[in-house]
Amino acid sequence: MIEDKNQQRTQLSDLGEFGLIDHLTKNFKIKQSSTIKGIGDDAAVLNFANKKVVVTTDLLVEGVHFDLSYVPLKHLGYKAVIVNLSDVFAMNARATQITVSIAVSNRFPLEALEDLYAGIETASSLYNVDVIGGDTTSSTTGLLISVTAIGEVDKDDEVYRSGAKPNDLLVVSGDLGAAYMGLQVLEREKEVYKVNPNNQPDLEPYTYIVERQLKPEARKDIVTLLSDLKVKPSSMIDVSDGLSSEIMHLCKQSEVGCDLYEEKIPLDPQVIATCEEFNVDSTTVALNGGEDYELLFTISQDDFPKIKGNPNLTVIGYMKEANAGMHLVTRADTQIPIKAQGWKSFND
Ligand code: ADP
Ligand code: MG
Repeated sequence: MIEDKNQQRTQLSDLGEFGLIDHLTKNFKIKQSSTIKGIGDDAAVLNFANKKVVVTTDLLVEGVHFDLSYVPLKHLGYKAVIVNLSDVFAMNARATQITVSIAVSNRFPLEALEDLYAGIETASSLYNVDVIGGDTTSSTTGLLISVTAIGEVDKDDEVYRSGAKPNDLLVVSGDLGAAYMGLQVLEREKEVYKVNPNNQPDLEPYTYIVERQLKPEARKDIVTLLSDLKVKPSSMIDVSDGLSSEIMHLCKQSEVGCDLYEEKIPLDPQVIATCEEFNVDSTTVALNGGEDYELLFTISQDDFPKIKGNPNLTVIGYMKEANAGMHLVTRADTQIPIKAQGWKSFND
């Protein structure tokens, strides 16, 4: 961490566990009518009347999922919420509540946790979700943060990974590969900083991709858009591990095959430029990069006129019979089998 010597440092032990929880959670306000009781009792109480409820959890571990030498804690708090909301939206549901659990070593002062919670608060107000509880404990090593998100969905509106049919169109929101290239830039700057701490990085040419890495957004707007357009996807997943691994999940669980067109994969110009600079192939980055938090879904061809021309959505392929397999159709019109190469957690 690039530490500011003048920064105030309050030891966590000065507050005690309950003082700390009170301090960190005092600004949270209840916004959802389904929240009957939030923080402060042994458990929260929710009432979803006649809606279905979706629940999802993610665990983020320092040194595995984030590196505090270039991830500001405020951004980490924000991102920890976003990655969970993205999973709720991938079910075609509306996010309503979250819980936040942290394990923290005493090398973190109170001010660091205030930053983390500032990010959590920003994300929860922006996405209109209530923080309704969590747990706080100490850790002997780094920081762990686990967020659970809850959402609601009308009867029959939920969308699984398993509903894609042959001939359905494969659609993705936004663009891909930016968060991964943002990470490459941040990693490079970290190495430069190690060699010469006086060297101030110029991140100006990389603003978009660095922001996609440090401050991703979840596509709540796409769930709303699809509902407005009266399009119910036949299957859906969020892009957290890279396009190829998400396509494989949809195909396997739906028991279909797929053709993905390389030339259709949406890429931001900054991603293309940075890929050239780093001498990596932009298609590989989009396929295997991950952390895009875009939505990948399939729709019936009958729904195509409803989404046609929408700047937020790109048709990148279509589903086939399972025995056709899963292929990338390259710009040179050759077919390459799609393989998963998720870059996170277990293989680095
Ligand atoms: P318990 O002993 O029953 O686990 P705690 O003292 O840990 O209760 O928590 C008291 C209240 O504060 C509960 O409502 C709990 O959900 C909430 N809480 C605890 N830790 C956190 C946290 N890190 N973030 C948000 N809420 C928390
Ligand atoms: Mg507890």
